Amino acid sequence: MAIQKIESHLAGEWCSGTSEGAALVNPATEEVVATSSTDGLDFAKGLAFAREEGGAALRKMTFAERGELLQRMSDALQAEREPLIDSAIVNGGCTRGDAKFDVDGAIGVLAYYARLGKELGDVRVLPDGEGMALARGARFWGQHVWLPRRGVAVLVNAFNFPSWGFAEKAACSILGGMPVVTKPATSTALTSYLCTKAIVEQAKLPAGVYSFVGGSPGDMLEHLGVQDILSFTGSASTGQKLRSMAAVIKNSVPVNVEADSLNAAVLGPDVDIGSDAWDLFIKDVSREMSQKTGQKCTAVRRIFVPADKVADVIDALGARLDDVQIGDPSLKEVRMGPLASAAQLRDVRAGLGKLMEDADVAYGDPAAPIEGPGITAGKGYFFPKLILKARDSHGAKYVHDLEVFGPVATVCAYSGEAEDAAALVARGQGGLVASIYTDDNRFAEDMMMGVAPFHGRLYFGSSKIVDQALGSGLVLPMCCHGGPGRAGGGEELGGMRGVNHFMQRTAIQGNRAMVQAITGTKE
Ligand code: NAP
Repeated sequence: MAIQKIESHLAGEWCSGTSEGAALVNPATEEVVATSSTDGLDFAKGLAFAREEGGAALRKMTFAERGELLQRMSDALQAEREPLIDSAIVNGGCTRGDAKFDVDGAIGVLAYYARLGKELGDVRVLPDGEGMALARGARFWGQHVWLPRRGVAVLVNAFNFPSWGFAEKAACSILGGMPVVTKPATSTALTSYLCTKAIVEQAKLPAGVYSFVGGSPGDMLEHLGVQDILSFTGSASTGQKLRSMAAVIKNSVPVNVEADSLNAAVLGPDVDIGSDAWDLFIKDVSREMSQKTGQKCTAVRRIFVPADKVADVIDALGARLDDVQIGDPSLKEVRMGPLASAAQLRDVRAGLGKLMEDADVAYGDPAAPIEGPGITAGKGYFFPKLILKARDSHGAKYVHDLEVFGPVATVCAYSGEAEDAAALVARGQGGLVASIYTDDNRFAEDMMMGVAPFHGRLYFGSSKIVDQALGSGLVLPMCCHGGPGRAGGGEELGGMRGVNHFMQRTAIQGNRAMVQAITGTKE
């Protein structure tokens, strides 16, 4: 495969950095597949062009018209689906299934928001709630409205979802009337670049609506202004850095952060071994540990099990994980590829060392050489599937405090009481999703009250939905994604909620007839 040169698309044109740039590799073979440089690019000009040209074009459009743009973006990705999947295999270490999860997620979320735009129709301003009389008389009237901001949304994404990651943010932003500049993580940027090529060449968006930085962001974020938005997905430490940037603080730039999460799966005390709810739990957890080699923000990291069922859970999970064949993800028989980069492998190994201060390996062998189809000894960033068992669930520190971004999860015993399980789950200090497996409404309610304040989403697996449930790891556009505390405090998606993050809410006060006429709320 020829080495591809990743370009950026700024101020309405393709551009390349001046240096040789970073080498992007195939993590299964360590072969270079692409290079990326953004040195010397004029980011200030790129942002200004997006604000002035792209923003003006979007503000003239209705929601329905912006929805049409999103549909064209979705169609463009659909047309290039196979090459996009191939690129995620060679540059992301993804199996075909992992790659589809990302690419189809992007196509689907753009199509979902395209439909929402159509439903919102031929309007450019949206009422927020009912209008109200503000004084004793009926004429002094108030109405809250949502309308487009005048800035650009800069979307900084993590390495693990090079397609879906930008698409879910861009869909909400463009529908809300804000142009975007997307910046993928450099290590897996090939897929994002090919998405951009498809969008630029096929979707024919108005100039400046969609821009792309194919690598390091240089000084771009120093040029964020008072109407701009920064939406970030990545590690908590980078999120903190970006939040404290001078331009962000000075200009009160809203920053949405989607960061780390020690997602928990809880087995209810009512779930019998071998029951439907048990099988769902084992199936979901083993998938959420190994899909995308554990490099999903929603992957299960902590598994809470009543003490008397710990050994059975480890056996059952291990038996399912035995079927997950590790190897070169371009091969059909392989179900789990390598980690995405050398840096990832380093971080996961270091993280495992910390976890093992609290826990013992109960399944898998971190020291054994990794063998599998297409693996060349000494090459690639492969890492084994591992289940750890906490020595003392309450005394453990790193298990509740350190996200190891690989196919590793720790089983923690709890008493079987909801109060105990909830207190342990909350030790994660804020997460994206917690999954609870039970058929007992009382246990479910106690868990909801105990852990919902620490999460953006709860998933209840039960025997009634075994044939319908989609798993806790799937982020759906109609439900909110994000979480408090360690997870960054951000929120994305959730239908219209996700669009509102990119719009300004303003209270309009004045004569009732005028307010209703200009806001389009006349009865
Ligand atoms: P990362 O190292 O924090 O990088 C994330 C993004 O930030 C990359 O695009 C990176 O660009 C950029 N970046 C890093 N330093 C920057 C700086 N000083 N200024 C501007 N941009 C900067 O995270 P990652 O390793 O890619 O992703 C893994 C993490 O993401 C995990 O912790 C995972 O939990 C989290 N994640 C969360 C969610 C969620 O929805 N909550 C989803 C996916 C992943 P370069 O690559 O060019 O350095």
